[in-house]
Amino acid sequence: MSQKIGIVGSGLIGRSWAMLFAASEFSVAIYDVIHENVDTALVDIQAQLNNLESKGLLRGKINVKQQFALISKANTLEECLQNAIHVQECVFEDLELKKKVFRELDSIASDDIVLCSSTSCILPSLFQVDLKHRAQAIVGHPVNPPYFIPLVEVIPNKHTDPEIVKRTRALFTTIGQKPVVIKKEINGFVGNRIQFAILSETYRLIEDDVISVEDVDTVMADGFGLRWAFMGPWETAHLNATGMKEYFEKYRKSMSSVCHDFGPVPTFEGKGADIMVKEMHKRIPVEDLPERRKWRDERLIALSQLKKKL
Ligand code: NAD
Repeated sequence: MSQKIGIVGSGLIGRSWAMLFAASEFSVAIYDVIHENVDTALVDIQAQLNNLESKGLLRGKINVKQQFALISKANTLEECLQNAIHVQECVFEDLELKKKVFRELDSIASDDIVLCSSTSCILPSLFQVDLKHRAQAIVGHPVNPPYFIPLVEVIPNKHTDPEIVKRTRALFTTIGQKPVVIKKEINGFVGNRIQFAILSETYRLIEDDVISVEDVDTVMADGFGLRWAFMGPWETAHLNATGMKEYFEKYRKSMSSVCHDFGPVPTFEGKGADIMVKEMHKRIPVEDLPERRKWRDERLIALSQLKKKL
């Protein structure tokens, strides 16, 4: 008998989780407050699985039919959670809604199930700490599209039982994702803090007329991004010297001097934003975005396949 996962919310992310869990032979029950949304989701999941199989990209050891057979519709939240070891909440990104859904989950949860939210940026303490089962509540924030980007940020609230953190991390690892644990909750978690640090520094450089928007994108896509697809910035540093110790001995002064040179936090409006909007809209007109997104996804898929082979 497969272990069961409950999915609450059948949108983009709920569907992705369902596919990832089914690929690893978990049975999955999807609940949505709009019941018909689950029917639509099931049709879409089947189409996505067929498409993945036809391109040789299907995850897991079982075929599409077997994976799809593991995914079912739950008509009530109780049915969704019944005998599940883990529930992954995937409702809209709205604090009041998350509070409401977690209160509902709390009222029917067993003392063993993990109550995990997919929230992108709402701190767990804002919706998980006034619960009877708060020690079982946690965040597991995926990156879109989770089928090809394995990172999941796992963020406990301050009452989460350390065993639940371990269990959540282990479960995401079992399904082939790459969980990282954010030990204490922080605004933006970690992924967005890193992204926003890059966005804000490059914004300042563009606003100060140091470089064009296009050339910034080249610095990342044809420079650091190539290395970062395989190793993070600290391993890069370790390898770029005779180890980390020597790296700091050699570069700490210049690193610190450059960091002191960073300007104030941008408001992301005014001159810099005007330059960015003008350049980006000229480079990729809005009507071309769907085509460009398709181009991006194809490359992402190819890169994720390559990484698996290396
Ligand atoms: P979505 O808009 O595609 O789907 C949300 C679904 O939740 C809808 O089907 C809706 O009917 C359902 N829903 C609303 N209220 C509900 C309730 N009370 N009970 C059950 N179902 C309910 O949303 P999404 O893009 O899948 O995002 C879901 C969560 O995942 C959000 O917290 C979001 O921040 C997070 N997330 C999204 C992305 C992304 O790129 N879309 C990436 C990472 C994390």
